Amino acid sequence: ETTQKKPHVAVLASPGVGHVTPLLELAKRLVVDHGFQVTFLAISTDAPPAQIQLLNSSTLLPDLHVIHLPHVDVSNLLTASTGVSVRIVLVVRQTLSYLPSVLTNMQPHIQSLIVDPFCLGALEYAAAFSIPTYLFLTTSASFTALTMYFPTLHAQVDGDYSKIAEKVVVPGCNPLLLDDLIPGVLMPEVLPLCNRIPLVKGVFINTWEELEPVTLGAVRKNPFFLGLPAPPVYPIGPMTKGNEDEPLTSTLESKKMLTWLDKQPPDSVVYVSFGSGGTLSGEQMSELAWGLELSQTRFVWVARPPSEVSASGSFFEAGYDAEGAASYLPDGFLDRTRERGLVISSWAPQVAVLSHGSVAGFVTHCGWNSVLESIAQGVRMIAWPLYAEQSMNARMLVDMGVAVWPKPAGDRAVVGRGEVERVVRSVMEGEQGKAMRQKVIELQGTGLKALGLGGSSNASLAGLADAWRAGGSP
Ligand code: UDP
Repeated sequence: ETTQKKPHVAVLASPGVGHVTPLLELAKRLVVDHGFQVTFLAISTDAPPAQIQLLNSSTLLPDLHVIHLPHVDVSNLLTASTGVSVRIVLVVRQTLSYLPSVLTNMQPHIQSLIVDPFCLGALEYAAAFSIPTYLFLTTSASFTALTMYFPTLHAQVDGDYSKIAEKVVVPGCNPLLLDDLIPGVLMPEVLPLCNRIPLVKGVFINTWEELEPVTLGAVRKNPFFLGLPAPPVYPIGPMTKGNEDEPLTSTLESKKMLTWLDKQPPDSVVYVSFGSGGTLSGEQMSELAWGLELSQTRFVWVARPPSEVSASGSFFEAGYDAEGAASYLPDGFLDRTRERGLVISSWAPQVAVLSHGSVAGFVTHCGWNSVLESIAQGVRMIAWPLYAEQSMNARMLVDMGVAVWPKPAGDRAVVGRGEVERVVRSVMEGEQGKAMRQKVIELQGTGLKALGLGGSSNASLAGLADAWRAGGSP
């Protein structure tokens, strides 16, 4: 077969490791499993080194080409209170103006464009070239349902979200508690993006039939806003990176972490990390440290410097502190826990850590990639949502019996050390821990099956790939 015959698709991802990772995985599957040629369009930012390394490593596949779109400067549009999501919306909007020239020069002609939700604005540009656009919703079916329902909800309350009663009921889905929909999910800035969903050819979701059967049923059945039919949905998950996709595994701190884990007993360690962007306040960090110490449980902790202003403080900035974690952890903490814990202040090789035999629990901010990586490795969770749709994810994990969600006492804003100690013990030890372990291993099994030959997610993607290869779309 000659290169010319290979179907060529382009993938466009918004900034952030959590957005790039699943789209890159999809790109690789199309290349490796289906013989496609894929051009990966990356939006340049001052992203932490992890994102850049992730994309450099992918040049290893001959049929996967990465193009970095020109860097844009949005600093004049930002204020101190601009959140991560709005900042992404702004960066993407400006960058997309370069898309037409990129599409014009792309050889051979691309057959389809696959974008993440923040990049839905690419739809019009692609349409001008008669290129069909597909959406890859890199989160759960529940979040997909909410996203598709958002324009209806917006109309119902006339854009005033304070009018929403305490629950949002997306037809066919579990009611969502308003408390779980932290600001940043219901935002006027994302409405124009949601409004484009009925115009895409299909929606990939990073989930699988067996994980969210009821919600997927609802997503398929519910009409979109104003009765427009929703596009077909294709659950293709769990799409997670592999060990080999962690270029930072070779850094000194990463090596130290893996060597340290090698010396710990099986199933004894809790891994603590809040994703690429998550940050805690100084007080919250201190309570977490004390709680870990009191629990007497072994731990590895990616402890970024605290931030008093933002729960996503390290999303765009690397956020590493040259002084190291000692400068912002309680006095003497590192010494007292030397035998039992390891703290790094930069970046962990997360899949390598989660797949390590000594690791049994994960204190996670519930970013969807982290959730899937944890399930894929059979690791139970302590849910610590911080921003975006993470509280929804946390709620789902608790309902599924694979996570415990520590809560602040009374009207306090921080989770106290006693609560941290309690949840760490309950997840790592005793009957509750055992039950959670069993449950997460069940989910791990259904995920593996979905991806395997004849599995639901495998079939979903293969069906589309076949249609694309035949030159059309289903
Ligand atoms: N990650 C990592 N090491 C870290 C922190 C994060 O490898 O120290 C990876 C993690 O494995 C996941 C991604 O970064 O693939 C974070 O995505 P997620 O959706 O969990 O959260 P986000 O960072 O987008 O909030």
